[in-house]
Amino acid sequence: MKKVYLLIVILLCFSLGRALRIQIQGESTRHNIAETEIEGVQYLAIKDLAPILRCIHKQDRTDQRLYLHIYGETFIYLEGTSFYSYKLDSFNMHYPLTRIGGEYYLPSIFFTEHLPLHFPNEHRFADGVLRIPKPVDHSVQVIVLDPGHGGKDPGAVGKKMKAKEKDVNLAVALKLKQLLERELNVRVLMTRSDDRFVSLGDRTKFANDNRADLFVSIHTNASKSATSTGIETYYLATAMTSDARAVEALENQVVELYEGGASARSKYDDLDFILSDLSQTEHLESSNELAGSIQQNLIAGTKSYDRGVKQANFYVLRGAFMPSILIELGFISNPEEERLLVNDEYQQRLARTIFEGIKRFKFRYDRIRNT
Ligand SMILES: [Zn+2]
Repeated sequence: MKKVYLLIVILLCFSLGRALRIQIQGESTRHNIAETEIEGVQYLAIKDLAPILRCIHKQDRTDQRLYLHIYGETFIYLEGTSFYSYKLDSFNMHYPLTRIGGEYYLPSIFFTEHLPLHFPNEHRFADGVLRIPKPVDHSVQVIVLDPGHGGKDPGAVGKKMKAKEKDVNLAVALKLKQLLERELNVRVLMTRSDDRFVSLGDRTKFANDNRADLFVSIHTNASKSATSTGIETYYLATAMTSDARAVEALENQVVELYEGGASARSKYDDLDFILSDLSQTEHLESSNELAGSIQQNLIAGTKSYDRGVKQANFYVLRGAFMPSILIELGFISNPEEERLLVNDEYQQRLARTIFEGIKRFKFRYDRIRNT
């Protein structure tokens, strides 16, 4: 009997020694992550930890760097070395980051000793169990749609049918909302759902307050020339072409016209510009990617002239703490495009193609962030 008991204890120790046990705060069950022995050292595969820690990793193939985003912080490793950098400091795991069959492995010691060191209040490793707070899911779940203009601000007005930009923007946004909710199972919030005026600052504040993952502003373009044509998608930046500058002036003039003129304008100019610029810098790559995905789908789906993805300094994108873009669906000042833009079927097609662009972005983005 004693022998059997001893055998069970030995077997138990053996099996437990090959796994890291993780206890998430507030959860009753523990996770066992299998360890892999590499040259006598215990390692953990990042892909096994990702769903539990909700960490995301990205590799830079050009210089073999690995970025691990975990609990809102970034760790940078170099393949084949034991050093990593965190908050501009360098740390030594004593065993190198290793890659086997395309999968990254970190020495277990990083999770049992280094994580508790970097997050002393929340992470604790004792009695073979790593105790961690509940991680946050970073996948795209909340999307804010922002139909441009509204209420006293009609936006651009068509030359032939006198169609108002604000109505086209809202109609397309409402159709897009339906598709996103029905087919992508995300929460969609609107900065306005009817014909009302919303200041530019309130639009991004709404997105920030609701912790949106994406911000999509929908507009139609206008030009003095009736022949200007095509679709373009923007993301925030300070450097730009003169064409982009013209569209920027057009979309920003709402501040001059409807939000109290020069004094309001200086409010936006000073509006934590450096801070907001930084907030978007962090998301620049994602915003660019989202813009590209939407633009590509819009062009393929409408056969409209491709004016490309551009950068401009829109007030409405500035304060947003998430990937943010602004779409110009076509020129309401062009009689041919005006006729299309007010057409229900064409609006549905625009909504469908934007939807496909967001969907493709989300699948790629969620995978990068959550695996
Ligand atoms: Zn507009």
